[in-house]
Amino acid sequence: QSLTDDVEPGAATMPLPQNDERRWSDTSAYARKKILQSWVQLPNGNWELGKILSTSGEESVISLPEGKVMKVISETLVPANPDILDGVDDLMQLSYLNEPSVLYNLNYRYNQDMIYTKAGPVLVAVNPFKEVPLYGNRYIEAYRKKSNESPHVYAIADTAIREMIRDEVNQSIIIRFSLSYSGESGAGKTETAKIAMQYLAALGGGSGIEYEILKTNPILEAFGNAKTLRNDNSSRFGKLIEIHFSESGKISGAQSRVVQCAEGERSYHIFYQLCAGASPALREKLNLTSAHEYKYLGQSNCYSINGVDDAERFHSVKEALDIVHVSKEDQESVFAMLAAVLWLGNVSFTVIDNENHVEPVADESLSTVAKLIGCNIIDLKLSLSKRNMRVGKDTIVQKLTLPQAIDARDALAKSVYSCLFDWLVEQINKSLAVGKRRTGRSISILDIYGFESFDKNSFEQFCINYANERLQQHFNRHLFKLEQEEYIQDGIDWTRVDFEDNQDCLSLFEKKPLGLLSLLDEESTFPNGTDLTLANKLKQHLHSNSCFRGDREKLFTVVHYAGEVTYDTTGFLEKNRDLLHLDSIQLLSSCSCHLPQAFASSMLIQSEKPVVGPLYKAGGADSQRLSVATKFKGQLFQLMQRLGNTTPHFIRCIKPNNVQSPGLYEQGLVLQQLRCCGVLEVVRISRSGFPTRVSHQKFARRYGFLLVENIADKDPLSVSVAILHQFNILPEMYQVGYTKLFFRTGQIGVLEDTRNRT
Ligand code: ATP
Ligand code: MG
Repeated sequence: QSLTDDVEPGAATMPLPQNDERRWSDTSAYARKKILQSWVQLPNGNWELGKILSTSGEESVISLPEGKVMKVISETLVPANPDILDGVDDLMQLSYLNEPSVLYNLNYRYNQDMIYTKAGPVLVAVNPFKEVPLYGNRYIEAYRKKSNESPHVYAIADTAIREMIRDEVNQSIIIRFSLSYSGESGAGKTETAKIAMQYLAALGGGSGIEYEILKTNPILEAFGNAKTLRNDNSSRFGKLIEIHFSESGKISGAQSRVVQCAEGERSYHIFYQLCAGASPALREKLNLTSAHEYKYLGQSNCYSINGVDDAERFHSVKEALDIVHVSKEDQESVFAMLAAVLWLGNVSFTVIDNENHVEPVADESLSTVAKLIGCNIIDLKLSLSKRNMRVGKDTIVQKLTLPQAIDARDALAKSVYSCLFDWLVEQINKSLAVGKRRTGRSISILDIYGFESFDKNSFEQFCINYANERLQQHFNRHLFKLEQEEYIQDGIDWTRVDFEDNQDCLSLFEKKPLGLLSLLDEESTFPNGTDLTLANKLKQHLHSNSCFRGDREKLFTVVHYAGEVTYDTTGFLEKNRDLLHLDSIQLLSSCSCHLPQAFASSMLIQSEKPVVGPLYKAGGADSQRLSVATKFKGQLFQLMQRLGNTTPHFIRCIKPNNVQSPGLYEQGLVLQQLRCCGVLEVVRISRSGFPTRVSHQKFARRYGFLLVENIADKDPLSVSVAILHQFNILPEMYQVGYTKLFFRTGQIGVLEDTRNRT
């Protein structure tokens, strides 16, 4: 007996492949007669709403707004929903689920500042690029009391808290985006994460720690975000914030986990803030000058952000550091490290022999760096001009040429900065340390970069897109696969839906020994390996993989879940090797300041045995540190492990235009994004399925006391069925499985309401 017999045709109760349903021909004759309005695609690709005047044969005559009349092939028309459905707050409510209708619905709401819309279980957030009156205590209160039920991040956070308590299962809120060729940066992920934290902090209040948690944002943003062309406050790291709750539902602590991806010199906010906001005394101590004087900051020729006062931000960061208990001394050391990085960028080199070997110029930059990190100026000079190499059992000293010396200098600067960031995260975590009475209950919020695809894609995009491929799988598995497997396992009637899995693409990355990551690591250990030999190796071993395509020279293409991305291996090996040489680590460990020492030992912990010689050389596992890609994979796996044990809630951020402008809604851009994250499929599955499921035991325990007839001693299944009958839950609204009851959306609500009233 099919559940869908009595539902109006065209209501998409049977999931269909996306493209089939878009077309007119798929709606039945019955539905066709009733349709008065229809979507017409204009030559520019946009959809326009038209009235059907007549249909004859293959063609229809349509009237468009502004009096235009058009003849079109009926096949190309897409049914529009009746006006009464304009702006519904859940896409599940649309009678006709198709791309133009979804686009229209989101646009309709967006025009009225209703930036949130549900797509079944997923919350879609369209970036308003302006302040919208949807936040603050009044709204928090309304969502807590459930007096406001329109879609919102607050509502998601509220559900997470309730489910955490009800099911005694950790929760996660996953905020992300999928691949779009125009770039996803600036979609609103980080803002959304902050809004979710705001709600959790307001609700879990009472212990004082929630204030600290909110205050960690300015620190992480100052040190981890940078202005890019696409977003003034672009996150250059991914983070998972775990908020822990005590028995009583109060926040008891938090922890941030960071996934960092290798990144070239970036102008992180904190550098400009330091230069603009340091006091005269600090300036003198750090020998600080203006941002314009530093080569690392001068590369983009952009020193300020519209509407942002860097000096003021610097004070907020200092305040935030106070709040998370970083002592004044430590703060000063942090700033000294920042200044050292800046001054390192100004270190220049001079040729010293006729073999083009160089050594650093002994100027103000060099002496300031030595002073700031607390090392001997001669040692610094040595570490920037020579390298100890191990050949067989001997160690030889190699002098550096200019490009090598510049690499050594930049590698040192990058390592100091990235160690500093890690150190800060550790301090924040210590300060927010989980309360003693740990219940293990937590809500995690994941804010991670989305897929990236540019004209030229390098190692950074390679890592980022790999991470996204993993997350996409998590999303797919959760919403599609697990869903169906559970139905089948529990023996309920279900028509299987096919969805695109991305396991093949993940295997392309992770397979050993012949996957992208393994081959990259292998080539990185060869002293003679170059970006070209890497590209050739990939092509040689992976050419038969359906997700891989070799391109000319150093290019290769990966067929990712949402599209193809072509990578250029230029710089891959260098970035993956993490060029920091032992000489530099030794230099840091010899410093008199405690931060560089701490950095050096944290870097050494990675290698199993003390390292001698260059950190990357052929043979001898003991002489290797982890490659950047391997480290990244490790961080990613830890993240996935944490997420794997949680009930996920998904938020998809959508960027309606590429110019960070309010009120501008570009159909094509939004559509790309909706397609990539499979919003329509999600709605389709949810609508046709049974998203709510409860074990017989749990159901009987939770609602059994509402039974008029006392059958409490009966088995859970009988009790459950009795409850269903007593409350007149319609047979098409649920299915009884072997171990669980499955409900369509909204059904459990009736029972919960009654229970709460009782
Ligand atoms: P990236 O991937 O580069 O880190 P992101 O997705 O984290 O990008 P955000 O930094 O969160 O993007 O958002 C970019 C900008 O969009 C914000 O600085 C803010 O101006 C605006 N914005 C995003 N969400 C909202 C919102 N809910 N209300 C008002 N403005 C918003
Ligand atoms: Mg961000």
